[in-house]
Amino acid sequence: MEGRKLRREDYTVGWLCALPIELRAARMLLDEKHQSIAVENDTNIYTLGRLGEHNVVISCLPAGQIGTSSAATVAIQMKLAFTKIRFGLLVGIGGGVPSQNADVRLGDVVVSQPQRGRPGVLQYDFGKITPDGFEQTGCLSLPPPILLSAVSALQSTQSKEADEFSHYFPENLDVQEFAREAAGPDVLFEASYQHRSGDTCASCDQERLITREPRAGPDVMVHYGTIASGNYVMKDGLERDRINTKLGGVLCFEMEASGLMNTFPCLVIRGICDYADSHKNKKWHSYAAQTAAMYAKRVLSIVPAIPGNTTPGNKDLPETRIYSTCHGEAETQSMPQAAQKQEIRQLSHDLRSQGNLVREYPRRLISLSYCR
Ligand SMILES: [Zn+2]
Repeated sequence: MEGRKLRREDYTVGWLCALPIELRAARMLLDEKHQSIAVENDTNIYTLGRLGEHNVVISCLPAGQIGTSSAATVAIQMKLAFTKIRFGLLVGIGGGVPSQNADVRLGDVVVSQPQRGRPGVLQYDFGKITPDGFEQTGCLSLPPPILLSAVSALQSTQSKEADEFSHYFPENLDVQEFAREAAGPDVLFEASYQHRSGDTCASCDQERLITREPRAGPDVMVHYGTIASGNYVMKDGLERDRINTKLGGVLCFEMEASGLMNTFPCLVIRGICDYADSHKNKKWHSYAAQTAAMYAKRVLSIVPAIPGNTTPGNKDLPETRIYSTCHGEAETQSMPQAAQKQEIRQLSHDLRSQGNLVREYPRRLISLSYCR
């Protein structure tokens, strides 16, 4: 059942996705769902809700309308309808580029981070045809500085990063759909070996698999760097590797970011669902969409909300704040510590007295509502 109804100006974060499964993954992570708001002359359908301290507006591209132009249209409409949006997030799945420089695997998360003079996203199909061949041109904007600062903060705790992913799964998670086990094995074929037939690789030659050592650490890794964006589906291992080399190293391919960066500055977060080769199928879509959405939620969890925009229009309802717990100790996130000390002490006491809760959900984010 949907909850409160806020005003359009109460929403400060814009979240875009391209596929219904990505929208579903985002919806499942909402801490609170809000009632819809009608917007005249707008073809987007908005999902409204709260993620931590932020009121978030989510929109998905129209069915069958993926690509940079469609993404730009949706983003522009969103910006016009929700004028207080501070920054954007583009969250969904992408085709990974495994290489000697990056051990990208299915389910991993790739984040657009500027490096070596490159802006985080490169549009590989924008340029000019010359006698010497295609020459990529153009320059896209950087992700919003506040989100890059949040990325730095997350990187500073990288050793615990994958561990903490599981703590962002909602309690009503549809395990069957989003469980890693449901995705099947993570197999990578030689770039030159083409898929034979069918929806799976059951008929493909197992002798052409690339052998990789099992990960010693956590299942999910986060990679930071350049994302290649364009208007065609990358479905060829050799072309994938050729463009990767030409662009100086990319982590994944996707089809929306380059339509957004200059008009709707955003951080691009992609869960890896295939290897951008002819073997790609949809088995990993759900899990990869979920890991990307969880990382996006993590980013938001450390970006302070602007005072006055956290719980607007909420005068008659309990104030909601977010606390994290670690072995029974509570602390606020992005809140003025001095003003909250007494509340923290009380919360820690309450948590310790609820031993079962703490043991069952160590370090889990807990949302507490209370009345002043
Ligand atoms: Zn195959």
